[in-house]
Amino acid sequence: MTNGVQDFPLPKSTTTGDTEALRKFNVTKVNWMKFKWKPKKMTLVIIPDANQSVVRFRVSHLFAYLAGAGLTLLLLMSVFIYVLHAHTLKQTIALQSKLSGANQQWSATVTSKDAAIEQLQSEVIQLSQQAEQMKSQLEEVKKLESDLKTIAGLDNDATGKALASAATDKKAAEDAATSTGVGGSPYPVSQDDILKLGEMTSASLTAIGGEVAELQVNLTATKQKVAEKQAQLRITPTLWPTMTKVVTSPFGYRSDPFTKIPSFHSGIDFGAHENDPVFATAAGTVVSTGKDIYHGNNIVIEHSKGLRTWYMHLNKILVNRGDTVEKGDTIGLVGSTGRSTGAHLHYEVLKNGESIDPKPYLKAMRKDDN
Ligand SMILES: [Zn+2]
Repeated sequence: MTNGVQDFPLPKSTTTGDTEALRKFNVTKVNWMKFKWKPKKMTLVIIPDANQSVVRFRVSHLFAYLAGAGLTLLLLMSVFIYVLHAHTLKQTIALQSKLSGANQQWSATVTSKDAAIEQLQSEVIQLSQQAEQMKSQLEEVKKLESDLKTIAGLDNDATGKALASAATDKKAAEDAATSTGVGGSPYPVSQDDILKLGEMTSASLTAIGGEVAELQVNLTATKQKVAEKQAQLRITPTLWPTMTKVVTSPFGYRSDPFTKIPSFHSGIDFGAHENDPVFATAAGTVVSTGKDIYHGNNIVIEHSKGLRTWYMHLNKILVNRGDTVEKGDTIGLVGSTGRSTGAHLHYEVLKNGESIDPKPYLKAMRKDDN
């Protein structure tokens, strides 16, 4: 190529006489020559200021087009970068806002967790205090169980001792209850302290659980023993048979009131008034009622196998043979029937048919005293 004119090679197949082919070639050549490149120049003028001289740049059109294209590309790229930047900025702001939200939420969660931990710590402390309280209460219950045994006569200890100690305990508890003041230096607890306290409380509660189970077994046994004791007590003579406590003649050897010769008195005489009520000294069954010249109107009650009570010289018998009586029931009225010098009750306790001293069986004036 020289000066914008293109040389076109002749088709190889062109031969003399092939005019049609030659004509087509010439047409093609003419068409190409119409678009012949004509380099043109362009002058760029820069006027810095009115007093300064003008600067001229003479550049070719190609350079101008290239510069224009370059500038356009640069502009497009700038727009693209700006759009990209704006998009990124938007995303960043959104992310920042999200992060800030998450941060606030996290902060709130941490605060709430801290509060929950504090609450749990307080609960552990409270629980440990309750465990301690339960321990002392358990000790009290154990003591009460022991006292109950003693009072019921299931232990060898004196009943009075148990009652006295119960009264002392009550006083101590009352004294403790009147003091409510608290104080001391502030020592904040560490997490380790709380953990240890929790473990100790857990161990205490386990121990208390074991002791409660043991106590339950003991109390069940005690309850059964008390019930047995009660049943035994119901059929054991303990009551005074009259309202009076005046003993006119005790059990044992004496001078006979009629013959004045030494004789054996097989019961106790109570100096009661005529028609005073006579009480059954224990629950039982009336095994005989009758009248004879020695015993007068008399009643025999069987309480358990081998243990009977006998009431003599009655003015009136108020029960029948075969009747069931409870401790304290009125079974007759005081009189002076039979071999008697005046109104009184002759009372006997018989063990396996033999009269024994009734004195150890005189324990209570009222049937609810036992
Ligand atoms: Zn007598």
